[in-house]
Amino acid sequence: MTGIDSLRNVLELECRKGYTDKAVIGGLDKYLHKQAGQIRQSLVLSLNEVKMKELIPQFLSGFDELNLANSNYSSYGVDERKRWMTNVFGWLDKLEKTKGSIRHSERSEESRDPSLSLRVTTAVAEPRQGRREGLDSPITVIKGITPNVANKFAKLNVRAVGDLLYFFPRRYVDYSRRKPISELIEGEEQTIIGTIWQARVATLGNRRGTEAIVGDKTGNIRVVWFNQPYLARSFRTNARVVISGTVGLFKGHKVFESPEWELLKDKELIHTGRLVPVYPLTQGLYPRQVRKWTKETVDGYAWQLDDFLPSGIKTRCQLLDLPAAIAQIHYPDDLTMAERAKGRLSFDELFLLQLGVLARKRDWKEGQPGNAFHIDQEVISRFLQCLPFTLTRAQERVLQEILTDLKQAKAMSRLLQGEVGSGKTVIATLALLIAAANGYQGALMAPTEVLAEQHYTNICNYLSKVSTQEPSLRLRSGQGSEPGERTIRCYTAEHPSHGGSVSRSLTIALLIGSLSSSEKEMLHDKIKQGKVDIIVGTHALIQKEVEFNKLGLAVIDEQHRFGVLQRSALRQKGFNPHVLVMTATPIPRTMALTLYGDLDLSVIDELPPGRQVVKTKCLESQDREKAYSFLHRQVSNGRQAFIICPLIEESEVLEAKAAKTEYERLSREVFPDLKLGLLHGQMPGSEKEEVMRHFRAGELDILVSTSVVEVGIDVPRASVMMVEGAERFGLSQLHQFRGRVGRDKEQGYCLLIPEKLSPEARERLRLMEKVHDGFALAEKDLEIRGPGEFFGTHQSGLPDLKLAKLTDLRSLELARREAITLFQSDPNLKKAEHQPLRQQLSRVWAGGAEWS
Ligand code: ADP
Ligand code: MG
Repeated sequence: MTGIDSLRNVLELECRKGYTDKAVIGGLDKYLHKQAGQIRQSLVLSLNEVKMKELIPQFLSGFDELNLANSNYSSYGVDERKRWMTNVFGWLDKLEKTKGSIRHSERSEESRDPSLSLRVTTAVAEPRQGRREGLDSPITVIKGITPNVANKFAKLNVRAVGDLLYFFPRRYVDYSRRKPISELIEGEEQTIIGTIWQARVATLGNRRGTEAIVGDKTGNIRVVWFNQPYLARSFRTNARVVISGTVGLFKGHKVFESPEWELLKDKELIHTGRLVPVYPLTQGLYPRQVRKWTKETVDGYAWQLDDFLPSGIKTRCQLLDLPAAIAQIHYPDDLTMAERAKGRLSFDELFLLQLGVLARKRDWKEGQPGNAFHIDQEVISRFLQCLPFTLTRAQERVLQEILTDLKQAKAMSRLLQGEVGSGKTVIATLALLIAAANGYQGALMAPTEVLAEQHYTNICNYLSKVSTQEPSLRLRSGQGSEPGERTIRCYTAEHPSHGGSVSRSLTIALLIGSLSSSEKEMLHDKIKQGKVDIIVGTHALIQKEVEFNKLGLAVIDEQHRFGVLQRSALRQKGFNPHVLVMTATPIPRTMALTLYGDLDLSVIDELPPGRQVVKTKCLESQDREKAYSFLHRQVSNGRQAFIICPLIEESEVLEAKAAKTEYERLSREVFPDLKLGLLHGQMPGSEKEEVMRHFRAGELDILVSTSVVEVGIDVPRASVMMVEGAERFGLSQLHQFRGRVGRDKEQGYCLLIPEKLSPEARERLRLMEKVHDGFALAEKDLEIRGPGEFFGTHQSGLPDLKLAKLTDLRSLELARREAITLFQSDPNLKKAEHQPLRQQLSRVWAGGAEWS
């Protein structure tokens, strides 16, 4: 029985007992004081039930006027008790009548219009206000959204009505705590409902504003709005108003200063008296308007949302229906509902992410057989013997993991994570050598030319050492070979079908965009004819002109710089080749599982012995001069330095401009005697490569750069990394920066100079001084800044996560488990009941996942 029904029962009993206050033990007052809250709630529920949300405020205010929570029934005489009773029954009857008439009219409407009754069954939001334009209609179908406003929304990526439904509030302000005016407490967010006694334009301080006196039964309060004199016109005397805000004190009297307000009409409250959504805004969009529009959109369109989640999953995971979740995330009944709505919608994100990732794994791994390589131990041990060092235990372990994969007739899909300098390239080189030994081609793709060149040089060095160990073989470096290509005579094993191991020449080539077109053409031909064994390159590798003869292994370096599409483009160049992707950006395991669930994971979690840590110091800005003289001394000792300029998030153009100014200032005023270079994101790629080359060659002493300074680049003589505006960077990024120095035997230094140092920022930067483990810093980063900042999913080519937290292990695992279960029962989503899900999946994975 609802609270309202039991109220009626109790009161009827009391009448039958002759107004003797005997209906409930302890007296009616005690019962009412205790139950009023619950009755009020059941009122909201019952009106919601009959889809009359818009009448809620009206009935609530009627209910509040009865003031049951403070009833004084026991002190009345019988006549007063009767009058009181009549009053309460009057309200109860009105409620009953309204509810009855709604039920009735709804029924008759349904019977008149069969399409409507169909609609009602799927609708969760008020179908009475339901609108029929599709969810892909432009938002200008919403009243008040002009094309001009639509342009502003476009900046927030909101274009269609459906986007607006998925335009979620960042948070809520809790204005649900309603108080009688006499009980308002200073300093708290509270809500009152009262009558406007007076409202006028007033001078507040020295500006014009609005001043109103609002009263309820318990007292009056002054309310002021600064700088908004026009508001006075909206407030008619005697109008009912809801005021939500923080109560302050002015000359000893309580006052609301510029609170949210809303006139009490027959409409549901959206700015006051509830959990009020706070949306992310952009220039020219105002909170009150945006709330009005989102409310209208939710009421009008949420019913159209097709709930794509299979009902079994919803039941098992206790998830809200989609339209209800959308309605509740915008205008939640209470915090619990807000959480449940968030729970449902973030489940969707993770679940779709997992399904897409699983589909990719299936397509790549199980779709077609891969190439099983023969692993010749002789080749491996010879290669290892020639290294000037022994592998670390972590390298050994990872090597075994990779070799095990390469032996399978299933294509390898492996992510190799390891800190800068942990020795990933050696492992990759060995894998490439094995591919070549099996008669396949191997490719290594790096994000920049400088990095590609560096890899090319390293690989040639490693392999030429192997070749010179064999006395009968001589390195044929360069002789007779084309530019960008080296032929290295190297001990390798031929494909086992030929039996035994023989030695032959290996040809290694560098394919980069800056080759001339005739050079490129020549190289393309050789690659196509299988005359090149190992190809190192940039994006140039995945251009459509590049055809491999027999690509068996694709290695991708600095994975996060490439999107999923580029990754699969390289994969498509071969007949289901093995794929190894490498990254120096450490990703915590939970996150890696989700984002790269299609890849198996290997981690080199150990640095080669004797590797020194980069001494890191967080300075104050007044220590800058000292830092400069330190740089000077290092340069006179033959070292080089980086100076990183502050990050300007909003604009790369501004960032470049600031870097240029800084570069000019430093060249003129601080280091007039040194050679400085400038690097920023607005420079053309070729120019950037040029500057990096000069710096690497030692022709520049100091490189002034924005954050573009290339990940993974080796400048052995660089010993100082100075970062300006250090507090603006994430810990992982700072760690990447300092990985650029101290690559040699010499001590490396990292000087962090913050611009503004809050206590939190100081604490964060202090971590850089103490912690030298990239993974630990990444975990901290995630904790402090959240995954969005840490690792924009958009750059990895995965669907965006708006609500889901990759740090929320429990949700992650729930979504993963459900995705796996579903995937096992219907891997191709062929069942009829999975069609909405299938459509949703291709929507969020536009261009990404391959559904067969
Ligand atoms: P990453 O690609 O992981 O940043 P590299 O493979 O470029 O690392 O290795 C960084 C440097 O460390 C190279 O000069 C390499 O020769 C050296 N190196 C790699 N493995 C070892 C090891 N086990 N012991 C000593 N030095 C190593
Ligand atoms: Mg590297």
